[in-house]
Amino acid sequence: MALIVHKYGGTSMGSPERIRNVAKRVAKWARAGHQMVVVPSAMSGETNRLLGLAGELAPTPASAAYHRELDMLAATGEQASSALLAIALQAEGMEAISYTGWQVPVRTDSSYTKARIESIDDQRVRADLDAGKVVVITGFQGIDDAGHITTLGRGGSDTSAVAIAAAMKANECLIYTDVDGVYTTDPRVVPAARRLHTVSFEEMLEMASLGSKVLQIRSVEFAGKYKVPMRVLSSFTPWDIDLAEEAQSGTLITFEEDEKMEKAVVSGIAFNRGEAKISVLGVPDTPGIAHRILGPVADANIEVDVIIQNISKDGKADFSFTVNQGDYQRALDLLRTKVVPELGAQEVVGDPHICKVSIVGIGMRSHVGIASTMFRVLSQENINIQMISTSEIKTSVVIDEKYLELAVRALHTAFGLDKAAE
Ligand code: ADP
Ligand code: ASP
Ligand code: MG
Repeated sequence: MALIVHKYGGTSMGSPERIRNVAKRVAKWARAGHQMVVVPSAMSGETNRLLGLAGELAPTPASAAYHRELDMLAATGEQASSALLAIALQAEGMEAISYTGWQVPVRTDSSYTKARIESIDDQRVRADLDAGKVVVITGFQGIDDAGHITTLGRGGSDTSAVAIAAAMKANECLIYTDVDGVYTTDPRVVPAARRLHTVSFEEMLEMASLGSKVLQIRSVEFAGKYKVPMRVLSSFTPWDIDLAEEAQSGTLITFEEDEKMEKAVVSGIAFNRGEAKISVLGVPDTPGIAHRILGPVADANIEVDVIIQNISKDGKADFSFTVNQGDYQRALDLLRTKVVPELGAQEVVGDPHICKVSIVGIGMRSHVGIASTMFRVLSQENINIQMISTSEIKTSVVIDEKYLELAVRALHTAFGLDKAAE
């Protein structure tokens, strides 16, 4: 008998009919003799709806007290879907019980809206499993040491599921979603994208960190740290397909470089639409500049992504970096009011409509010229590269947001990732 964790995303839980379908699928696995823990997301649109309501009533400036209430609020979406799934399982004749994060408990730190899981107490869940119950645990949330409800950041149910699988030493964590696996790029943007049968953990980590929202990055980090066998697969196949066939479908995240693995140098293309660029022009080129510009930005809790500083001319340099679009105005205001007057820079300019496109592949370690192919393809499409950032297994470029689709499709074709025409 195996212990299996299933995770179902918002679209998969999107209506009573879909929840019934999830319940039937889970019941099939339980009847095959497995102990089942199921982690659902809120019904699709629910988290956005709740956060939208909060936004209409929000205080300015937003305080920690406000962020605490956001978590209190957003966590209810998963509480509702979990109870509904337990009810649907009962209607299938299963014994089922649902728990919120705080009931388990899933312990986290206190960073509201982006908390990190610290530990999971599995006693209660194990007792229920041993008593023959299916256990449903809310995704996306936990409780901090002081007893406040926390949430794990958007897409955080993936992380809940993998963390629970790790804590309980589950045999496998299956992430059911609205696509049938991990693709070479988002199949909604590139119809020619191909499903990968396997993807290495390192590549998946890069893809997730560079914007492929099919898995939240922290779920991949957990899977890597605790070696949780993990697969991404479709919740839209008929629930009664053969279990063995279902168990082999989708995309497996692998931890070893397997000789038989798909050998492409570039395995995937990731992108992030929601970025903005800020440039501080004419800063005196002296030691400590990066710290004096980015220190206040970090203190304001604004995450910075790609950073470049150009060579100085006449003792002055330009310094550019990217932030999330949501933080753009705040970062710009901060630099204009606090940093520029102190630094004596000439001016701060910005562009809130840029995006980052990245090619990812462990094959890039052993092949030269991959980045230059990327630059050639973009130049052939007349796309101007504004910033470049590289690591061992990825190259990212920052470009105008309006060229995103064009860039991703051209690169997808150029690196031989398009599926064969049918
Ligand atoms: P869920 O609600 O199940 O968590 P998400 O919307 O968070 O689902 O993630 C699934 C979506 O991720 C897909 O619908 C797809 O548009 C998008 N996506 C982005 N990159 C990829 C990729 N490389 N492979 C598959 N899906 C991707
Ligand atoms: N419901 C949360 C969100 O929309 C968590 C998740 O779906 O994983 O971000
Ligand atoms: Mg998701």
